[in-house]
Amino acid sequence: MPAGTRDRLPDVPKTPRTLRTARVHPSSLTPSLASFPPPPTGSPMAQLIDGKAVAAAVRAEVAEGAAAFAEAHGRRPGLRVVLLGDNAASQSYVRAKARAADAAGIDAETLLRPADLAEADLLALIAELNADPAVDGILVQLPLPDYVDEAAVIRAIDPAKDVDGFHPENVGKLVLGEETLEPCTPAGIVEMLRRTDVETSGAHAVIVGRSNIVGKPMASLLLRRGLDCTVTVCHSRTRDLAQITRQADILVAAIGRAEFVTADMVKAGATVIDVGINRVEDATRERGYRLTGDVDFEAVSEVAGAITPVPGGVGPMTIAMLLANTLEAARRRQARSQPSG
Ligand code: NDP
Repeated sequence: MPAGTRDRLPDVPKTPRTLRTARVHPSSLTPSLASFPPPPTGSPMAQLIDGKAVAAAVRAEVAEGAAAFAEAHGRRPGLRVVLLGDNAASQSYVRAKARAADAAGIDAETLLRPADLAEADLLALIAELNADPAVDGILVQLPLPDYVDEAAVIRAIDPAKDVDGFHPENVGKLVLGEETLEPCTPAGIVEMLRRTDVETSGAHAVIVGRSNIVGKPMASLLLRRGLDCTVTVCHSRTRDLAQITRQADILVAAIGRAEFVTADMVKAGATVIDVGINRVEDATRERGYRLTGDVDFEAVSEVAGAITPVPGGVGPMTIAMLLANTLEAARRRQARSQPSG
């Protein structure tokens, strides 16, 4: 059945709230989220979690917040995206980020530098952006060329401007459950779960993938007080993976292998979040490939209670959360520079 004919979840939160209060922080979490609506009686098809619609709601809230920020402080929140090299896919990705930021009222600029830029010059550029009062958010597009020490570059970014949430200081705060700039992809997944009323408290969340950008921060967020999942993280050495994924009430697939998660790996009624973006050859498409997730969408839809599509699920949320983080970074920096009272 084509995705468009599935039952859709509500596009916007039932109770509109500002993004600030909707962010994951113990004090802002609803203690008793309503149970996720079950699939219609007699239908085995999962509900579709519409990431595009949730992302549009987040972007609209950011636009409202950015306009209020500009009104109050006489400047727009500022984002700088640094890209090394001329990889076409990366260029189009950062352009999409800059366009979305601009549309939300964020002063966004993409800084393109040659692929062979010396590491010292990249660090000097970051130091310049750290010192620039008009810049609230700095994002260095990964992966970087092999000769650059990625960890050193991430450490060089001012943690207060680290809108990717990858700086060790921010990672530490995330693990401690402190307020911080959260990595965009897992933060976007939490936002989707919250806005579609998925019950997280006491749920067993199984994450397949332990990367620093998705799997690990996802685990930290779902474990937080307020979300209160019981979390299992799996990886390539996990024994009897299917036996573990079948226990999941919430299954997050962040593997990077097309349609890896099959229907027999999913418990009936589970919420399945597909992070993967994989190119699969497809001669029927003009461009010769199609994008697919890490989940066998058609088959898993027959078993799951709810599922995110690819494209149109987690992807749009990642960009939306980058904008939300930029606004949040701007507000916090402004609050620090103009303490009240
Ligand atoms: P990584 O390659 O960094 O991590 C993949 C993880 O999957 C690793 O932990 C790896 O285990 C695990 N894995 C690989 N094979 C298996 C297996 N057979 N069984 C169990 N686990 C396995 O990927 P990322 O986390 O960066 O990205 C994952 C996917 O998500 C990719 O498709 C990527 O394109 C996509 N992505 C999408 C985003 C979005 O906005 N939608 C944002 C970021 C990523 P091990 O650690 O043992 O190697």
